[in-house]
Amino acid sequence: MALTIGVDVGGTKIAFGVVDENGGILERGLRHSPAGDPEKMALTIADVVNELAARHEVEAVGIGAAGFVDETRSVIRFAPNLAWREEPLRKKVGELVGLPVVVENDANAMAWGEYRFGAGRGESHVVCVTVGTGIGGGIVLGGDLYRGRWGMGAELGHMQTVPGGRPCGCGNNGCWERYASGSSLLAEAKANAEADPAAATHLLRLGGSVEGVRGEHVTEAARLGDRAALDAFESLADWLAQGLADLAAILDPGCFILGGGVSGAADLFADRVRDEFAARLTGRGHRPLADIRVAEMGPSAGLVGAGDLARLR
Ligand SMILES: [Zn+2]
Repeated sequence: MALTIGVDVGGTKIAFGVVDENGGILERGLRHSPAGDPEKMALTIADVVNELAARHEVEAVGIGAAGFVDETRSVIRFAPNLAWREEPLRKKVGELVGLPVVVENDANAMAWGEYRFGAGRGESHVVCVTVGTGIGGGIVLGGDLYRGRWGMGAELGHMQTVPGGRPCGCGNNGCWERYASGSSLLAEAKANAEADPAAATHLLRLGGSVEGVRGEHVTEAARLGDRAALDAFESLADWLAQGLADLAAILDPGCFILGGGVSGAADLFADRVRDEFAARLTGRGHRPLADIRVAEMGPSAGLVGAGDLARLR
């Protein structure tokens, strides 16, 4: 059986595994991510690969990385949360491991994993929206991963949804991820608690104070019926639905997949996203509704997708 190694590089950790052609993981592990040091990063990835390749017969390596990857899948042009600037990662790691290497944007790798082996199985047109600290995206059209002309497509979180809106780390204002991500959910819940503490009793008890409230408190408080937390989830759902309706107007996918850390609380907002999506969709009533599904593979999707893309390189 043809095996590959998938590596998912984030700002805090590196997840890796040996992936088979059915998306199964034969062996897996985690390492601390030396995010601030590109040389150490390449060495750490090569280390992990060489260790796995000594125990398994692998044919290629796929690296999913949180950054803008060029169209040849070789160079990371820029990574907001890592020290990569015009980093030739494919060449560096390739020389250290002696195997073919492909580099892919991490959200693309995750989307590919879910499309092939997770919630998108059986669909040919899939848009994956990763809702975490920000919003990442991956688009599969007609069974192909859509990368754009320069490899930088599907940065869905940075659609400017609110002109002149909340400032974003990318330098613009009003990006979708400032309204529909985990960090906006938290900010909204805190603002709600501040405006009306009486409606935020669970939230304030869990956090100790408005400043002490963290993301997991918002989920827990919402499950206990806390109004401030539930309102924040409603706002998240409405902004997500609006973005998905806009994406459907352009791409007309068969399904959307909601992934990322916030999708773990999908029971609190996915139904409202579906309702609001149907209410906001252009041409509604005269077209099939895209399915809105929750990701199935959790944190494995990125490394499985990266490994699979290396096999299909
Ligand atoms: Zn932005």
